[in-house]
Amino acid sequence: MAELKKIFMVIPCFNEEEVLPETSKRLLEKYEFLIENKKISEDSKIVFVDDGSRDKTWQIISDLHEKNDIFSGVKLSRNHGHQGALLAGLMTVKDKCDAAISMDADLQDDINTIDKFVEKFDEGCEIVYGVRSSRKKDTFFKRFTAQAFYKLMLFLGVEIIYNHADFRLMSSRAIEVLSQFKEVNLFLRGIVPLVGFKTDTVTYERNERFAGESKYPLKKMISFAVNGITSFSIKPIRMVFAVGVIIFICSIIMLIYSFIVWLCGKTVAGWTTLVISIWALGGIQLLSLGMIGEYIGKIYKEVKARPLYIIEEVIL
Ligand code: UDP
Ligand code: MG
Repeated sequence: MAELKKIFMVIPCFNEEEVLPETSKRLLEKYEFLIENKKISEDSKIVFVDDGSRDKTWQIISDLHEKNDIFSGVKLSRNHGHQGALLAGLMTVKDKCDAAISMDADLQDDINTIDKFVEKFDEGCEIVYGVRSSRKKDTFFKRFTAQAFYKLMLFLGVEIIYNHADFRLMSSRAIEVLSQFKEVNLFLRGIVPLVGFKTDTVTYERNERFAGESKYPLKKMISFAVNGITSFSIKPIRMVFAVGVIIFICSIIMLIYSFIVWLCGKTVAGWTTLVISIWALGGIQLLSLGMIGEYIGKIYKEVKARPLYIIEEVIL
């Protein structure tokens, strides 16, 4: 029989004292079930990442570890944000496991999906995305903004998995590749699809938060979205350029128009030159901005130094 796989859970926690006892209980049940049924190896672990919580989160994590060493913890020096905490966890476990599953602490993601993740991993998938089947349980506002965001990202040409948050399984090899992306503007949902390899998705029903409040207030959500867009797309720069072109064309039309008006002698002195210069200058300025933007876009890509290719297999 093939050797059982070591699967780690990585769970970022920011002020989650209210949900951690329940989350750890349910995860432990799930893990004991999977281990008993020989789906995952006995030394699989559940790793909580404390993202600089100000409540008893770390205390709870240490107590859990005391009682049962299936639980482990990583404590960050201060709050680094969800994405930072997630990456810290993944990087810590990448050489210790065969695959890691990232999940939120608040039990919104369905724990029973873990079985499917493991199945797909056994079938050879290196990345498995958890995709929510509907947004029935979201507030109207959250649903609307989230969907607008995904649509905008797709429109801007960012390869992003629709309705997938950070609930996913990644093989240690895929995490290793992820570590080659050195960018500081971290937007994992955009980077992970760039890793490649065999991938698949599983759908699940997303629940409401078990307890406590969302740690993503509107302000964080907006900065998350802006970060996602500006880290992955230079289309906004191109739009400036396009607007420049349009306005410049308008200026030519205005030129012809005001020339005719001038010929007919229906204008005040000075009007023609003034109107044409306003349009032409505006157009030229936007065009130049867009042009400079193209170069900035190039510099931006160079600076990120993303890997140019990722090898899956070599037969020599
Ligand atoms: N989180 C974190 N650091 C932060 C904010 C959130 O580690 O600065 C964690 C949080 O504890 C939770 C996950 O990220 O496990 C998702 O946060 P939340 O459930 O509040 O977001 P929402 O589901 O409302 O979008
Ligand atoms: Mg949540």
